[in-house]
Amino acid sequence: MPMHHASTSESEAAAQPTVSVQLPLPLGTTYDYLRPADMTLTPGDFVSVPLGGRVVEGVVWRRDGPPGVAEDRLKGVIARLDCPPMPAPLRDLVDWVARYTLTPRGAVLRMAMSIPEALEPTPPRAGYRITPPPPDLRMTDARRRVLRVAAAGPARGATEIAREAGVSTGVITGLVAAGALERVALPADGGYTVALDPGLPGPVLSPEQAAAAAQLRAAIAGEFSVTLLDGVTGAGKTEVYFEGIAEALAAGRQVLVLLPEIALTGQWLDRFAARFGAPPDVWHSDLPRGARRRCWRRVAQASARVVVGARSALFLPFPELGLIVVDEEHDGSYKQEDGVIYHARDMAVVRARIENIPIVLATATPALETVMNCESGRYRRLRLPARHGAAELPRIELLDMRRAPPPRQRWLSEPLVAALSETLEAGEQALLFLNRRGYAPLTLCRACGHRVHCPNCTAWLVEHRLTRQLQCHHCGYVAALPSSCPDCGAEDRMAACGPGVERLAEEVSALFPGWRLALMTSDTVRGPSAAAAFVAAIANREIDIIIGTQIIAKGHHFPLLTLVGVVDADLGLVGGDLRAAERTFQLLHQVAGRAGREDRPGRVLLQTYHPEHAVMRALVDGARDRFLAAESEMRRDGGWPPFGRLAALIVSGRDEARVDRTAALLARAAPHAEQLRVLGPAPAPLAMLRGRHRRRLLLKAARNVDVQAVLRRWLGQVRWPNGVRVQVDVDPYSFL
Ligand code: ADP
Ligand code: ZN
Repeated sequence: MPMHHASTSESEAAAQPTVSVQLPLPLGTTYDYLRPADMTLTPGDFVSVPLGGRVVEGVVWRRDGPPGVAEDRLKGVIARLDCPPMPAPLRDLVDWVARYTLTPRGAVLRMAMSIPEALEPTPPRAGYRITPPPPDLRMTDARRRVLRVAAAGPARGATEIAREAGVSTGVITGLVAAGALERVALPADGGYTVALDPGLPGPVLSPEQAAAAAQLRAAIAGEFSVTLLDGVTGAGKTEVYFEGIAEALAAGRQVLVLLPEIALTGQWLDRFAARFGAPPDVWHSDLPRGARRRCWRRVAQASARVVVGARSALFLPFPELGLIVVDEEHDGSYKQEDGVIYHARDMAVVRARIENIPIVLATATPALETVMNCESGRYRRLRLPARHGAAELPRIELLDMRRAPPPRQRWLSEPLVAALSETLEAGEQALLFLNRRGYAPLTLCRACGHRVHCPNCTAWLVEHRLTRQLQCHHCGYVAALPSSCPDCGAEDRMAACGPGVERLAEEVSALFPGWRLALMTSDTVRGPSAAAAFVAAIANREIDIIIGTQIIAKGHHFPLLTLVGVVDADLGLVGGDLRAAERTFQLLHQVAGRAGREDRPGRVLLQTYHPEHAVMRALVDGARDRFLAAESEMRRDGGWPPFGRLAALIVSGRDEARVDRTAALLARAAPHAEQLRVLGPAPAPLAMLRGRHRRRLLLKAARNVDVQAVLRRWLGQVRWPNGVRVQVDVDPYSFL
């Protein structure tokens, strides 16, 4: 891996007559341009260049090879943009990710340049503040309100002041002319930030926490290292890594914290602000473009010192990065499944290695990959075995649904209903977890048995009663609920099958009338700010029973929540791909971890038809490490990751025959070697998605195989027709 930056070759490049520029387009190589004589350019500089009649922005890159085009036919660089250059480690990361995922470099670069307008500085904005008013100032009500508002804060823009004072901006213009307000330039991207203060006191740490924090602090001064912060839910992992952040800040370095998108709630931000005196910069896809522009620019200028973000924050242009934290490192949402297919946790480790800085992975349920890395000594493990203070881990019990099934068309068993009433009567809160959005996962005709499915996907349509629709959860197709069967035409025979959270809510309101119920799913909670409002309502005791999907499972801390009921603990086990058991364990463990986080003990009831399953036994016995050991045994025997390597090829297109032909061509060209096996082609479980037919091939290789080289050679031998796409998924997590 290239680790030498700012080498002499870079400064020599500054004087070359031509430069190589990587454009953020699906291009695997750089293009050459002439350097205008009066322009100095070094790798990393952002430039605008002509491309086929357009002007596009790109980055000056290391030259890939000998120039392909004669100099006299090259076009010139148009301008160097007024933006700090892309740091060399980030360029190396882009190269690395492109090579590893077999993606054109430009497609990866596009993730690091997602906000092109950030490449130009923000023009300074005019702000207004009060000056001593002239004695002859004519006063009106509107003017008085404006002066009161302007006096109450720092200089602000005219629209902001006008909105707050409830007047038109004309009043402000008038006051400027009259000499009662003065115009000042507002600081642009660096402005309005209260500096983070690493010196503020944190909580008094327990001896175990203090020991872990000391190790993290010590790591900050060092070189690349990976530390797993392995602690039960509520152990204080966040408090401990905050100490690492404080150390990095004190050392003058920037910090990146990755969180699963939905965990980016007010709770985390409030805790951060309490610890450091100001909020961090935030980055996620739900933010308005202007806010992302500002964040990107502040990172590049090093005015953002701590950024907390979802996976794409990994590609922000930190010039002074000193620490990366990946919280909930096991979380499946770190794997990006479309566009550039990459795993943000793994690539975060790569970035830390390139930057030569420490990285901390935090979780209560580490991924098997991470555990293996600890056992081989590549990662260091710090354990926090107990919850903080008086809080204890909740007791987990199984409800055997074969013995005590719920009544027909109901989903809650007798013992779970009893536990719910006890909890509510005690003035505590309960959470019912069901990882299924909508009212019912399937609508079928009682006359002919027809099942309503998506016209574009191999999937049933899910009934959503709140919006009176049938929805496809894969492609977003919606249809009205039919009153007659689309197949046999029978009237009023369509029936909802199985439960979703909306149906569960119906059952709960019937059983517990008068208690306050909240539904938390991605349909009712859109984006982090809505999530924060929900979380606040729960923390303020405005809600008695929460019914939620996995968005409720992560990170939240609800002091009064003492009962967690998992309605269908087996749900994640069906379909059974490689990580089904591991993922189910992680998810249920995490949901269970919402119960009893303060002094009231928590209780967790899992409804299951498979009480003997290893996942259920491990949860009840609190035997995480035993489960991981058994799981790892199985993977070792089968040569599956992390003991072997996998890569998937997904062939897709609208024309089924072409897709099949391409898949067959790929199978015929498949590599043969002792260390390799190619499985498939087979129809993907989602054999049709968004109108495209899909076939899968799976390459399984021993650990020491250079999978990328094998794939490159393999794909290089096959030509596929227009309209057929072959996607490469290295280290696949989804087998759909
Ligand atoms: P984790 O990240 O391991 O789930 P948290 O850091 O969220 O755990 O801690 C759980 C709860 O315990 C939080 O409310 C946190 O503020 C509190 N807590 C943890 N450690 C301490 C401490 N040393 N002093 C006071 N409160 C603490
Ligand atoms: Zn669909």
